[in-house]
Amino acid sequence: MEQTRDSIKDIWGERTPYEGHWPVRVDELTEEAPDRWVQSACVLCSNGCGMDIGVKDGRIVGVRGRAVDAVNHGRLGPKGLQGWMANNSPDRLTRPLIRRNGKLEEASWDEAMDLIVRRSNDIISKKTSLGIGFYTSGQLFLEEYYTLAVLGKAGLGTPHMDGNTRLCTDTAAAALKVSFGSDGQPGSYTDLDTTEAILHVGHNIASQQTVLWTRILDRLAGENPPKLVVIDPRETFTAMKATVHLVPRVGTNVPIMNGLLNLIIQAGHINPDYIDAHTVGFEELKQLVSQWSPERVEAISGVPATKLREAARILGTAKTLVSTILQGVYQSMQATAAAVQVNNLHLIRGLIGHTGSGIYQMNGQPTAQNTRECGADGDLPGFRNWGNPEHIEQLARLWNVDSNIIPHWSPPTHAMQIWRYAEKGSINLLWISGTNPAVSLPQLERVRSILQQENLFVVVQDAFMTETAQYADVVLPAAIWGEKTGTFTNVDRTVHISHKAVDPPGEAKPDFEIFLDYARRMDFRDKDGAPLIKWKTPEECFEAWKECTRGRPCDYTGMSYAKLSEGSGIQWPCNEQYPDGKPHLYEDGVFNTSIDYCETYGHDLVTGAAATKEEYKAKDPKGKAFLKGADYEPPHEEPDEEFPLWLTTGRLVYHFHTRTKTGRSRQLNEAAPDAFVQVSDEDAARYGLKTGDLVEVASRRGKVVEPVLVGDIEPGLVFIPFHYGYWDDPGRKRAANELTLTEWDAVSKQPHYKYAAVRIRKI
Ligand code: SF4
Repeated sequence: MEQTRDSIKDIWGERTPYEGHWPVRVDELTEEAPDRWVQSACVLCSNGCGMDIGVKDGRIVGVRGRAVDAVNHGRLGPKGLQGWMANNSPDRLTRPLIRRNGKLEEASWDEAMDLIVRRSNDIISKKTSLGIGFYTSGQLFLEEYYTLAVLGKAGLGTPHMDGNTRLCTDTAAAALKVSFGSDGQPGSYTDLDTTEAILHVGHNIASQQTVLWTRILDRLAGENPPKLVVIDPRETFTAMKATVHLVPRVGTNVPIMNGLLNLIIQAGHINPDYIDAHTVGFEELKQLVSQWSPERVEAISGVPATKLREAARILGTAKTLVSTILQGVYQSMQATAAAVQVNNLHLIRGLIGHTGSGIYQMNGQPTAQNTRECGADGDLPGFRNWGNPEHIEQLARLWNVDSNIIPHWSPPTHAMQIWRYAEKGSINLLWISGTNPAVSLPQLERVRSILQQENLFVVVQDAFMTETAQYADVVLPAAIWGEKTGTFTNVDRTVHISHKAVDPPGEAKPDFEIFLDYARRMDFRDKDGAPLIKWKTPEECFEAWKECTRGRPCDYTGMSYAKLSEGSGIQWPCNEQYPDGKPHLYEDGVFNTSIDYCETYGHDLVTGAAATKEEYKAKDPKGKAFLKGADYEPPHEEPDEEFPLWLTTGRLVYHFHTRTKTGRSRQLNEAAPDAFVQVSDEDAARYGLKTGDLVEVASRRGKVVEPVLVGDIEPGLVFIPFHYGYWDDPGRKRAANELTLTEWDAVSKQPHYKYAAVRIRKI
């Protein structure tokens, strides 16, 4: 093994201090010297680091960072450097499987696809395509999502399509839509190169996006380091570097953000000209947050008033500010309301749309942005508004179909509702691609029982025999990154191309080809009787997608496979006006909120009730941003005598999601081989525990048994990483989601993984 650095021991590598232009450092790891390098980008988090895949004798043998790429300047983190080893894992799925007499047995592609088509047509004849649902991923490519969206929306006409992005980034989309009228991150990673202050809310960036954290570490080591405010209940790697670390009680993000805004407004650290010219709702917001004195915030959240004031001083006086938000907000109480308050902070200070200031409503997964853009989740392609008839007509013209087939009579079905429909028997075919809900959804006992229902036909498309695939009626072996060509978009709107480097194993096929095959066998047609889906290759699909985005916020029309293969990734919008992409949205203070253009007519932040077009029209902001807020609501479940502790769940630096890939890299697996429960020193003393002891952790929904890790967490709170399931250790109940609850945010419909009441018992 040749490597430029040991990323397991030294996660972020050596410092290259800077301000202004981040120096290049190329990270590389190879098993053997490659014959050739193939351009790609990493798909193990939403950062989208540019990388090349090293190939020898038709096999992936390593990776190196791309020095020219604007996202990472050559750097790669531990997952990026080691995760590719999963491609070569001997337990890849190589042939389709069909369940016969209770057992999954090998079958041909024709047998498997014919069976799916027969079941589809049978369901359609009995109850229309409303009996069919799709649950996809944040890890396929743009071309795969767009193909899936078109076959689902214009072929079948089912509203039941969502991604596991509902679990990780739907609050990002919801918060951006609420404030700015459409999805799309306003800033650029380059803002970090000069910013004066950084705010991380519920975002352990050091573990999640290690390369982006490296960029921040290098700024902190350089001249004029930015001030760092971190809001997180745990003493994470990120929190350890904070100038001010606010440690909130679980579920109190809204009080803290309300309190910070109140202090900033009271101190006059706002930009009245910007507020007047470019926003609506300031007086209501000011009134709302004025109820939140630092002392009241302290009483509810546990954050000392002095610390809140310290943070407000930094956030109120910095001339430039970058904010990032992730699951500590998105998967907790009042997710959208809290995330929107971060947007409000930037809006009232006028810190948006220019160099050094940006908001990153972060994505968790590498291609989550594309699930949303392409409409493979509860959105319509090109950030169109399901409530706007003209937007539906635009899609109908583009696809040459009758607009009535495109589901738009009610909001698209969100994932938690899709699973509920499957549970109640109104969805009878559930097609799961590139995700592992038997480990990642909340309340796993319930999920397993749904997957095993007699009247539910389950199709699973994956590269491995996951915990979910074990319950499938048909398993389709999928090619993964490195084995197929496609594009994807990271969290700062940078689009990368990932070229095919090697063939997939056995008969495994790209998801793109599987979806095309289904559309062909279902004989989906347009209005003129021609095949509905007109593309045969990923590049042809990309060209079709470009037309879908023309004139929309995510305009790709200036890109091509050739251009994306020239050097760095390119940010959208990229069109005639911005041929090299555009670093910042909303430079002119004009937002995507006008009634004809917006992606949503909005929601009540407390109840989630959707506004109608007429209601929106009455207060059409005509391009101004919304300042909206909400008051505090306590969590839906709180500790009591029976379950006296809070549980929160989260990630580890060495793993991604349910370890389907990272668990198959020896180095990553050895670095973090098992789940654990982290308890405070105080609780360890109370329960007589030391590191390594086994405890049973129980909630109202299930039990797990975990080894204990003592320290670096607040008393009364325990933490379990969510990565671990059963494929490599079927013996012990250890998945954190055995314990979590089926509750979700009113607006984004994102489940609440960050709080549950539990008890622990030494065994
Ligand atoms: S930061 Fe994310 S995208 Fe970059 S190498 Fe690490 S896992 Fe991959």
